[in-house]
Amino acid sequence: MPVFDYAPAPESRDIVALRPGYGLFVDGAFTEPADGGTFKTVNPATEEVLAEVAEAGPADVDRAVAAARRAFDGVWGRMRPAERAKYLFRVARVLQERAREFAVLESLDNGKPIRESRDVDVPLAAAHFFYYAGWADKLRWAGFGGDPRPLGVAGQVIPWNFPLLMAAWKLAPALAAGNTCVLKPAETTPLSALLLAEVLQQVDLPPGVVNIVTGAGGTGRALVAHGGLDKVAFTGSTEVGKQIQRTLAGTRTKLTLELGGKAANIVFDDAPLDQAVEGIVNGIFFNQGHVCCAGSRLLVQESVAEPLLERLKQRLATLRLGDPLDKNTDIGAVNSAAQLERITELAASGDAEGAVRWQPECPLPDRGWWFPPTLFTGVSQSHRIAREEIFGPVLSVLTFRTPDEAVVKANNTPYGLSAGVWSEKGSRILWTAQRLRAGVVWANTFNRFDPASPFGGYKESGFGREGGRHGLEAYLDA
Ligand code: NAP
Ligand code: MG
Repeated sequence: MPVFDYAPAPESRDIVALRPGYGLFVDGAFTEPADGGTFKTVNPATEEVLAEVAEAGPADVDRAVAAARRAFDGVWGRMRPAERAKYLFRVARVLQERAREFAVLESLDNGKPIRESRDVDVPLAAAHFFYYAGWADKLRWAGFGGDPRPLGVAGQVIPWNFPLLMAAWKLAPALAAGNTCVLKPAETTPLSALLLAEVLQQVDLPPGVVNIVTGAGGTGRALVAHGGLDKVAFTGSTEVGKQIQRTLAGTRTKLTLELGGKAANIVFDDAPLDQAVEGIVNGIFFNQGHVCCAGSRLLVQESVAEPLLERLKQRLATLRLGDPLDKNTDIGAVNSAAQLERITELAASGDAEGAVRWQPECPLPDRGWWFPPTLFTGVSQSHRIAREEIFGPVLSVLTFRTPDEAVVKANNTPYGLSAGVWSEKGSRILWTAQRLRAGVVWANTFNRFDPASPFGGYKESGFGREGGRHGLEAYLDA
């Protein structure tokens, strides 16, 4: 195989003007938190502090919810849907105009490769705003009755793995349906949401329609427990999702949850193996494996396991890990020390329980948080690495002999977010997909997203759908 030397190709960070400190975005303006609390956000590739960010307490959350309520009762609630759409179109256009700035900022704060923030996160975020802008004046034809109404004020809590994209998934359908929002970004990745707040000012979105309260888990708890919300939308861990469900039980607040996953990526013996290798790599090593729908369990038919694993190992040896801002980089930094610890601990449990670890030669940078691409063979269904979400670049490989066995093993998980099927036969793909208990099943591809396509889980992966016509339902009183 030819081996190329790669000269560094770093994207300049000059396009991003970081401020030393950021306030809360409430009622259209950046404001200080009531008790003056702040926290630091760091670049996970260097551990450099990027900025001090305001930490919202209950009083700030209350102010944000009140602003959202005023906007809902006032200007936003009274606005004609076609006018609402214009704001969403403007946001989408500005995201495209400022795409490079958003991509660099996202890679700085999150640690993901610029190739991914530039080619996936930012364009998809813009696409979501474009898509839902188109729905704003067509809600009567969305299939939820002749006169669907917005719910009111939505509280939205998002994780750190796709900070801007998750903000777009939450805000775009909510606003298109006529709701107002209070968004809580993750503690380790608040900066792209705050840049989005600047975009909202740039497009003259009326004050209070979107409010952004930064902070840690406590801020999220305060938002969810506020009592003045008509709707809560949460993306994050199953554990926190369950807490939120308990908090809201018995209230009139509607809830949708997008939680964890442990997806099976099933490779049948008739699959195009080289194509499957690319799909497996994209399925688990995209975004350092910090992906709720990651294809973290590879189920490969026994008769092709050996050649497939050989090709997979060859391919993994070519992945380049390092500076997220380098355009050559395939694998960036793990988002936080805490996440690295969790990945390290789960991988160690794989060793201890008898699976066989394989890692390519992969020097790690001295500073920052890194984990090399990792593959475990000899994995049994009872191993923790086959059951628990690792949320890192670690693939657990299991084998099967018959299609029935593949389906039973794939479904043997408390989760049900996504799955992949690789086969040359359409009938086999359909047979398998019908039997998989997963919200999304990809055929001969993986981790493919489109704003028109609904996404969401079964079982402990949550309920409700985001994306597509279906994504509107969560924000309509239909
Ligand atoms: P997490 O701890 O559940 O955090 C998610 C968000 O909730 C963060 O903003 C977090 O704030 C906040 N939060 C924490 N405790 C809270 C509480 N008690 N009440 C309200 N909000 C609270 O999850 P994570 O570790 O950041 O993210 C990884 C998880 O998210 C994985 O399990 C992954 O599968 C899941 N995920 C799912 C999807 C999906 O679409 N299904 C997408 C992405 C990620 P802080 O960050 O400040 O702690
Ligand atoms: Mg950060």
